[in-house]
Amino acid sequence: MKKQIAIIAEHHKESVVSATFEAVSFALELSNLTEAKPVIIVLGKSIKEMAENLSKKTGLDVVGIEGGPLEFYNAEQYKFTLKYYLESIDPEYICMTHTAMGLDLAPGLATRLDASCITAVEGIKSQDGKISFLRSMFGGKLRAEIMPKLKKSVITILPGAWKAQELDPMENGHVDIKAAPSSISTSRTITVKEAEEETLNLDDAEVIVAAGRGIGNEENLHLVKDLAKIFNKSAIGASKAVCDLGWLGYKHQIGMTGRTVSPRLYIACGISGSSQHISGMKDSQIVVSINIDPNAAIFNVSHYCIVEDLATFIPVLLEEFRNFVGTT
Ligand SMILES: Cc1cc2nc3c(=O)[nH]c(=O)nc-3n(C[C@H](O)[C@H](O)[C@H](O)COP(=O)(O)OP(=O)(O)OC[C@H]3O[C@@H](n4cnc5c(N)ncnc54)[C@H](O)[C@@H]3O)c2cc1C
Repeated sequence: MKKQIAIIAEHHKESVVSATFEAVSFALELSNLTEAKPVIIVLGKSIKEMAENLSKKTGLDVVGIEGGPLEFYNAEQYKFTLKYYLESIDPEYICMTHTAMGLDLAPGLATRLDASCITAVEGIKSQDGKISFLRSMFGGKLRAEIMPKLKKSVITILPGAWKAQELDPMENGHVDIKAAPSSISTSRTITVKEAEEETLNLDDAEVIVAAGRGIGNEENLHLVKDLAKIFNKSAIGASKAVCDLGWLGYKHQIGMTGRTVSPRLYIACGISGSSQHISGMKDSQIVVSINIDPNAAIFNVSHYCIVEDLATFIPVLLEEFRNFVGTT
């Protein structure tokens, strides 16, 4: 039987998250190199319509596995169900998005399937018939090439690394809906509540001034806010580190698990430039970064690189701005 690449679809509120289509693009590239056949697997309580839409949009075969305990994502239920099904089709690669779900699921699933686990993949390399995967390390400072040693690999795909293509297939794929095996009782997700969304116009802002852990402490946020105030249509962004520390709310977070923005000007203050952060701001028209580390990865995507302590630089810049405005 032809080898397969299983793509585990992620969905929320009855729609498939867009990063799943990026995982499809990854699987199609891998399929060209290995001749393995991609198949999408979607788990849920009632997913026939979603499975049919997926097959229509991608032209790929889709297997839907339905069961009450799968209504919401739950690592234990997903691992149990996927192990059961994946052992029957024995795919060479099992891929999913590098999101909170993918990160939660991939390592445990790999252990259960006796598979290699390679996360945050950004590229594929094929040499002498051997496939390896590329990923960033140490906040984007190093690039690693990883070759799986086991027969199967569980892979998470970094959002933004592949584009979700408009496939427009000639034919729908085959859809097969199966009942989940009787569930395990260790845990079950009862409900999922969303954080209340406050209206913060990161999408409409022409200028985003973003704070990173390098601002040092919450009190120094005023530097970033004062800098944002000199622009008309501006908003405050943040790295995940700043949100995790509670210095700003998660609605400000930019990056893979935050917002994706593309302002005219992005000013990164004390942000190292992890691949997860960069994936959310790389389409900004002009990027200015202030960082004390001349080797900070954020400088690789910056048009203007300021190697300086932000607590020194921002007040001087504001002072110069006030002097300039005062004389015009
Ligand atoms: C699954 C997953 C999802 C993630 N999603 C996101 C996401 O959506 N968004 C995101 O941002 N991160 C995300 N992360 C976290 C990410 O990996 C990094 O940990 C995070 O981006 C680091 O934030 P930072 O750059 O503010 O902090 P750090 O990496 O600590 O960098 C601080 C920077 O400030 C500089 N600095 C220090 N002092 C000063 C000073 N006085 N003046 C100027 N510069 C100074 C330092 O040189 C350093 O470069 C995610 C991680 C995972 C695993």
